[in-house]
Amino acid sequence: MDNANQIHIPIEISARHVHLSQRLVNILFGKGHELTPDKTLSQPTEFRCEERLDIVGPREIIHSVAVLGPTREHTQVEIALTDARKLGLNPPVRESGNHEGSASCRLVGPAGEYELDDGVIVAHRHLHCNSAEAEQLGIKNGDIISVEVKDSLRPVIFEDVIVRVKDTFSLSMHVDTDEGNAAGLTPDSYGVIFR
Ligand SMILES: [Zn+2]
Repeated sequence: MDNANQIHIPIEISARHVHLSQRLVNILFGKGHELTPDKTLSQPTEFRCEERLDIVGPREIIHSVAVLGPTREHTQVEIALTDARKLGLNPPVRESGNHEGSASCRLVGPAGEYELDDGVIVAHRHLHCNSAEAEQLGIKNGDIISVEVKDSLRPVIFEDVIVRVKDTFSLSMHVDTDEGNAAGLTPDSYGVIFR
């Protein structure tokens, strides 16, 4: 496993963003509207859209939040804990797609607004890879691992990183803006598995 611990894992910061169902695209951007891809992301099936919307919480509003495509079955809002404090929300730290008991907010788009009962989460830090990369790293889907951050401004070992293996994924660890700043990530930073 010595070699596996030397493999450089790219670390990417996911800024706050929203995944929308087509039903909510219709409400927020107009009936029949289709999301407009703006930028491809490291996970090839996902893209950032030109569309932006506002997240309204009991305390404040965060404007011009990115929408990620393609549309999903369930709308999901992913924010950092700093965003949650600003908005006045108390979302749980969750894996994507697990919305039970998650927080609510109001979403405001150019064509309408929507009171979202649940779906606001702080994303649980995770690592994407395909099965060949998983084998090289000696990990499997669902594992909980620790990743040591190298060449950052502040030394950090991220524990409790969930491994997600899928053959459409490419190797990268996703953290949010709070986590990225806690580690002082720079473009030179990378992770290695800490055992
Ligand atoms: Zn991810």
